Amino acid sequence: MIQDNEFPRPNKIAHILDNDQEARALYNEIKDNIPDIAVRKGTEDHSGFGDNDYPESDPDCWWSMSGCHKPKHPNVVRDLTECKEQDTWGLTFDDGPYCAHNKLYDFLKKENVRATMFYIGSYVLNNPYQAQRALVDGHDVCHHSWSHKLMTTLTNEQVFAELYYSGKVIKKVMGVTPLCWRPPQGDVDDRVRYIATALGMRTILWKEDTDDWNIQPSGSQPTQAIDQNYRKIISKAGSESPVVLSHEISMHTINEFIKMFPEIKKAYKNVAPVSVCTGVQKPYLENVTYPSFSDYAAGQFNYQSLPSGTDIKVDANAQYKPVAFDQQDGGFGPSKKSSASSSAGASSSSGDTGSSSSAGASSSDAVSSSSSSASASGSSERQANQDNEASQKSENNGALSQRALSAWALGLVVGSALWLA
Ligand SMILES: [Zn+2]
Repeated sequence: MIQDNEFPRPNKIAHILDNDQEARALYNEIKDNIPDIAVRKGTEDHSGFGDNDYPESDPDCWWSMSGCHKPKHPNVVRDLTECKEQDTWGLTFDDGPYCAHNKLYDFLKKENVRATMFYIGSYVLNNPYQAQRALVDGHDVCHHSWSHKLMTTLTNEQVFAELYYSGKVIKKVMGVTPLCWRPPQGDVDDRVRYIATALGMRTILWKEDTDDWNIQPSGSQPTQAIDQNYRKIISKAGSESPVVLSHEISMHTINEFIKMFPEIKKAYKNVAPVSVCTGVQKPYLENVTYPSFSDYAAGQFNYQSLPSGTDIKVDANAQYKPVAFDQQDGGFGPSKKSSASSSAGASSSSGDTGSSSSAGASSSDAVSSSSSSASASGSSERQANQDNEASQKSENNGALSQRALSAWALGLVVGSALWLA
């Protein structure tokens, strides 16, 4: 079995363990090149923001503030938010593995649909057999941090540890090295992106958000409101191929997806995981091959070297060795010919990496705001924060950047108020 002393405490902010020489050595390799960007002020539990003075020019591509996903610092890989293939709904579920998610996974299997699962490292440690099912069923396994805190509010070493140990637990439980991750609440800037880039992990955000985490009775929105969110995205079929954010945090979000799926399927030609919809056939460091888009679209789910339910085993001795994008055979990284390695000052013509010049780097991503300060005090919804809090949380900052920044501009208090269920 996996030893408890190999991992940080579940659901607590990760740190590099005292006895972990490997993690320490890896961190020491990358730490000097991490961009010098301020750690954001967060609430005490790092689930919301404190008062942050941040320039309107968005120098660090801080998504929570501006919606930016094209880095402005060099040697940082930009976020994925869309499928490359046309008429495709990029299906993603956050915050698993959820203890009762078989209903969702059975449904996906029956419908011949795969998804990208963003798993919380602490939950993988606590629910290893549920986690294994994702890989056996052919879903993408990406991770979603160790403890589901706002990443920009953590120190460099904490950010590293959140990424490192969530990758490590997936390796030991499932035998694969995830090469993709999604920041909790979408909270990422070029400092956090750099650390993920150095570990060879692509940041995957989303273009469309169902806001399903907020469905009643655990959330505050009636089912009809979440139906409308889904239908708004459904109505964009033919004009975009979004990566769509949804959750497996409760039976309510699972039932909502199952209910809406026939409409999604009718509107979009394809419903596919991010690997398939972006043409990634080797989503892990290990030699596991996923179907091409054309095969998937034709219903040919020809996986290679995928473990079966009987041969997948937790392996406490599995070695976790993340590597940079340029050493990966496949993965979610930028295309090799235009990829910027870790060499200083590299710039990219592909748009996949940040340029050393920030001029115009993300003008289309920036949401204008006349305020540069976010405050998260006084939320009436924050008392949901318990030890298993991560399951209660979601990525509502999508809504934050797209809809509520005007509220910030008006000086209204938002922060965590919007996203705790
Ligand atoms: Zn989440």
